[in-house]
Amino acid sequence: MTLSKKTEAGVRGRFAPSPSGRMHLGNAAAALLSWLSVRSRQGTFVLRMEDLDPQRSHKSFASQILDDLDWLGLRWDEGPDKPGPCGPYRQSERAALYRQQLNRLKEQGLIYPCFCSRADLHSAEAPHGTDGELRYGGRCRHLTEGQRNQLEQQRPAALRVMTDERLICFEDGLQGRFCRRLSEQCGDFIVCRSDGVVAYQLAVVVDDALMGINEVVRGGDLLSSTPRQIYLYQQLGFKPPRFVHIPLLVNAQGQRLSKRDHALDLGELRQRYTARELLGHLAALLGMIEQPAPVSAEELIPLFDWNRIRRQVCTVPDSL
Ligand code: GLU
Repeated sequence: MTLSKKTEAGVRGRFAPSPSGRMHLGNAAAALLSWLSVRSRQGTFVLRMEDLDPQRSHKSFASQILDDLDWLGLRWDEGPDKPGPCGPYRQSERAALYRQQLNRLKEQGLIYPCFCSRADLHSAEAPHGTDGELRYGGRCRHLTEGQRNQLEQQRPAALRVMTDERLICFEDGLQGRFCRRLSEQCGDFIVCRSDGVVAYQLAVVVDDALMGINEVVRGGDLLSSTPRQIYLYQQLGFKPPRFVHIPLLVNAQGQRLSKRDHALDLGELRQRYTARELLGHLAALLGMIEQPAPVSAEELIPLFDWNRIRRQVCTVPDSL
């Protein structure tokens, strides 16, 4: 990136892990690149714990993530254990902020209750949108007041935000221009689940906006969520950050790494490698250095350049 030093100052990046399992190599790659992008420009690195879902989040995973980041040498300036001006830094403590922004969407008449069950949504006639996602056909959008009152007696409602025909485009730092029409991709989407938990799509926008995050570096699996998030930025009147979606890491069989691949989670990797060795492998995998060689996170700062980072899928060798 050829930004002048002046515009480079003041970058606020973040790493936003979900404590639903041990970090894996892909999470470490996102954390490393986000951290390097910030540190190479003297910015601020924020750690936000995305423990939004009480059923899937565990405190032990959250503390493990902090410990794994620390082991990698990726230190943060603000985070759950480091109070800063934009706290709290755990989503579980930010419910009131999400409510406020949800109310702003309600005031614009953009929110409606949805009573569709999982079975309704996955029924044979459920249409598929772009990216193979289920597209919500808008069944509950046009319910009358009477129908809503009646359904409310039967089951709790989720809340959806109305989408429209507009084409949403953004310039991704690694993937280039990406455009979607939400009406075709996913239709009206959920911003609050029927159990009252705010949906990731809304929480992440509220958090990044209120925490002043101006650069989001994260896994390529979230690329297709970004138009939904930009739509929310637009409706709430916030300025979207610069987005950089890093390539997905796949195993030698071409499958996406997941939290179930324990062989590549930090628990396993920490037994086999020192932090310097693991960072060397990661840096080589991502295109930062030619061959894996032990290196610290600090030593990678002067070598960091987005132009050298791989844009496509990265295959993790079986030997790792
Ligand atoms: N919490 C999400 C995850 O761990 C990442 C969300 C984001 O970076 O926007 O997959």
